[in-house]
Amino acid sequence: LTHFLERARSYYGAQEIVSRNPDKSLHRYTYADFHKRTSQLANALTRLGVKPGDRVASLSWNHHQHLEVYFGVPSMGAVMHTLNLRLHPKDLAYIASHAEDTVVVVDRSLLPLLEKFEKSAPCIKHVIVIPDDGPVPEGRLDYEKLLAAESDTFAFPRLDENSAAMLCYTSGTTGNPKGVLFSHRSIVLHTLVCCLPEVLGLKDTDTVLAVVPMFHAAAWGLPFDALLTGAKQVLPGPHLDPQSLLELMRDEKVTVAGGVPTIWLGILAQLDREPGKWDLGAMRHMVIGGSAAPPSLIDGFRKRHKLEVLHAWGMTEMNPVGTLARLKGDLHSASPETQLDAYASQGYSVPFVETRHVSDTGEVLPWDGKAMGELEVRGPMVAASYFGDEGKDRFTADGWFKTGDVVTIDAAGYLHITDRSKDVIKSGGEWISSVALENALMAHPSVLEAAVFAGRHSKWDERPLAAVVFKAGQQATKAELTAHLEKQFAKWWLPDDFLFVPQIPRTSTGKFLKMKLREDFGDHLL
Ligand code: ATP
Ligand code: MG
Repeated sequence: LTHFLERARSYYGAQEIVSRNPDKSLHRYTYADFHKRTSQLANALTRLGVKPGDRVASLSWNHHQHLEVYFGVPSMGAVMHTLNLRLHPKDLAYIASHAEDTVVVVDRSLLPLLEKFEKSAPCIKHVIVIPDDGPVPEGRLDYEKLLAAESDTFAFPRLDENSAAMLCYTSGTTGNPKGVLFSHRSIVLHTLVCCLPEVLGLKDTDTVLAVVPMFHAAAWGLPFDALLTGAKQVLPGPHLDPQSLLELMRDEKVTVAGGVPTIWLGILAQLDREPGKWDLGAMRHMVIGGSAAPPSLIDGFRKRHKLEVLHAWGMTEMNPVGTLARLKGDLHSASPETQLDAYASQGYSVPFVETRHVSDTGEVLPWDGKAMGELEVRGPMVAASYFGDEGKDRFTADGWFKTGDVVTIDAAGYLHITDRSKDVIKSGGEWISSVALENALMAHPSVLEAAVFAGRHSKWDERPLAAVVFKAGQQATKAELTAHLEKQFAKWWLPDDFLFVPQIPRTSTGKFLKMKLREDFGDHLL
């Protein structure tokens, strides 16, 4: 990553980084300025005693100072750890202690959150506050003052490519968040892959916008890609609502943007409401991933707004992208319906990632688009282990990593995620996809959302149960919902019961917490 930084200074020094402040004004500076400030940060951290291998955490929105921490910390040989600002203080205390963070760089606006767990993570020796929306309180280190006192040159060391660069914890959807450690080598390889023409094909004429909060591994890709290729970068600050993002995309002529489906759903709804107001003519690729993008989202952007959306599958352990839904071969001349099927799938693997899926008994399954099995991936970008002792059983001796996602793979290598292995319902030895049932239920006009999960069963081991939230003022009976599903599914797939609930428990990243549903209602059928 030191090399990326050097390239940003020597070749792309004039390129711009635009970062939005909390008051919505724009901070504009160049890659050359960025290099200087990153060097000042490295000097300041060295003075505080940070050594190679130490973990430096950030608790921060998407802005230029966060970007400086992203590059300054790994380039001096320390490990950058991004903390998820949407977590509960109790979880943050667990994660910061588990990672043994010694320094935390925090936005002033997020200081109250840090103060809720700081004392429970005694490993934290220094707190550096970024004055994002006002002055830094007395007695705290001020990020800007620290930098101003330092020289703007730093002798960045030559590092072993296998040394640790960054640490990120998974979302905690299926259990405790797991720490994933990345080497410089895996980040560089991932960046090279993403810049290939068949992936994103980034150039120095591109302008990129990372819509995902920068604590999430899904946001790592674009800043690295931009620094390598000299693309302009736009950072939205704390403003991740559709209106604010659309303003930036239009005014800064963004060409490549990446985000999670919930954010894109909001943007599509706004585009539909105000056609003509938002000229996104510069946009080349919008990447959607992190959880399943409904086909209607992809189709809506493509058909109604002529925007090129790319569905990606990834996970923190993949650093983060593993597959991307682009057309290949015969599909270029296929019918629009067939093309939409490909675009709505999770796509096929990016270079250097191998995929296969295996049955319960470890048998490698055929690529026939029908057989459901757990996805396994292999390649130099896939994490080699978790930080600490967790999850050793998910890494096999011959380099395959068990993703915990259940998929089908078709003959051309396109993946369809049908479930997670912890959520798939195993009824008398047969697998039922909870996601397929949920999608069908959510297409019912009265249903706002639905989560399908396993209830324990004395005869079949597990049977599907559906938790259903109705739209305001609407309802449906259990018999009506069953009749609706019967049109698409075999009898043995239909849920044994429907539970009408006010809301479905979610994780901090907005995914259904089925763990909680199984805890609360798992014995419902016994
Ligand atoms: P934990 O591992 O702690 O239980 P998590 O798996 O939700 O949490 P992440 O690494 O943030 O943590 O998310 C990766 C998971 O998100 C994938 O394993 C997959 O289940 C889901 N996912 C990501 N992209 C997609 C996609 N395009 N379609 C469907 N699911 C997706
Ligand atoms: Mg996971």
